[in-house]
Amino acid sequence: MRKCPNCNKRTIKIFNKSFLTNHKPIICENCNTKVGFSKMWTLIMTLIYVLWLIYYFIVNFIIDVNFLRFIIGLIISGIIMIFIQLFIIPYEKR
Ligand SMILES: [Zn+2]
Repeated sequence: MRKCPNCNKRTIKIFNKSFLTNHKPIICENCNTKVGFSKMWTLIMTLIYVLWLIYYFIVNFIIDVNFLRFIIGLIISGIIMIFIQLFIIPYEKR
């Protein structure tokens, strides 16, 4: 459970249905406030991820061609991004 940004109680389920979409707000069971992932944080993390993907693509397809390493890196970084979203990106009121 993660903290609600309004009442500070741990009411937000970590594995809620909207964790990959980011569009639907979650309603706190304690104070009925609509909360969602911080838009600024989501934007920053998305930008970092896109920049990293471009860098990783150049390294594995132009500098040193290695398709398998590219695929493994994509899967690992995708898992890391999901964990960052679930556990690190703060919630805000919607
Ligand atoms: Zn709350």
